[in-house]
Amino acid sequence: MKYLEKFRVKPGSKVDLSKVDAGFKDKYHHGGDKKVQKELETHINKMREQQYLMYAEGGRSLLICLQGRDAAGKDGTINHVLSAMNPQGCTVTGFKVPSAEEAAHDFLWRYHQAMPPKGHVAIFNRSHYEDVLVVRVHNLVPKKIWSQRYQQINDFEKMLSDNGIHILKFYLHIDPDEQLERFKKRIDDPARHWKISTGDYAERPFWDAYSKAYEAALSRCSTAHAPWFIIPSNHKWFRNLAVSRIISEYMESLRMKFPEPTVDIAEIRQKYHDIVSNEKKRADA
Ligand code: AMP
Ligand code: MG
Repeated sequence: MKYLEKFRVKPGSKVDLSKVDAGFKDKYHHGGDKKVQKELETHINKMREQQYLMYAEGGRSLLICLQGRDAAGKDGTINHVLSAMNPQGCTVTGFKVPSAEEAAHDFLWRYHQAMPPKGHVAIFNRSHYEDVLVVRVHNLVPKKIWSQRYQQINDFEKMLSDNGIHILKFYLHIDPDEQLERFKKRIDDPARHWKISTGDYAERPFWDAYSKAYEAALSRCSTAHAPWFIIPSNHKWFRNLAVSRIISEYMESLRMKFPEPTVDIAEIRQKYHDIVSNEKKRADA
């Protein structure tokens, strides 16, 4: 079965995260396995080839949204998987607490500006879903406002899709023990200290409220044109394998092709030969 199907949230289905195994490894045993390394390399190479085709085609684009709790691996996925994209043709945007200017606009304003132009890939580290996640959990706006946003997000994504933007959304699923383990690693490793924010620990008591908010977003906003994927992410190597495989499977399904040349190649070839023979004649004279 394609991973594109296996991890996709079927439109209209109801997600219960307590039933999803964050430690799932499929048929693989461990990340050091040669088979895992080889497959990861294959998917990553395919992804790069497909991005090149998308850039050459210059007609449509791809938006990749990464969501997940603190330490779920959003940064790691960008670093280890999405870095395969050629930077010429790819942007990464991280979304933090809205600035005063952002907060003065409608909630989708800042995301719309970061959308990929034709031929490009845009990667979102956090996304417009924050406005139904952290915002819902902490009542940053009244329920009346955030509860309308699921439909508004679906409409927004439909508009983007109708305008040639392909959308893939990944929820990196870890369990509470794994998060604690990763928090500990950050404390013990001076090179990771910079990643620690008090905010991370402040969110921990809201684990269940976040689960509910994620379940609502995953259930209500996985559509045919902008699907959600739930990625078992306790094992970083499996997360990398799954994300790279889904993106390469998806991009291949688009059957992109190099565009027809805009010039007459036979004519250009003739010109080239003329130049070569003229220069040779001159050199011989
Ligand atoms: P990080 O991704 O670790 O740099 O943290 C970014 C922080 O910004 C997280 O705590 C997010 O929950 C928060 N954030 C992102 N978008 C929003 C938003 N629309 N409203 C409030 N907080 C947000
Ligand atoms: Mg963080």
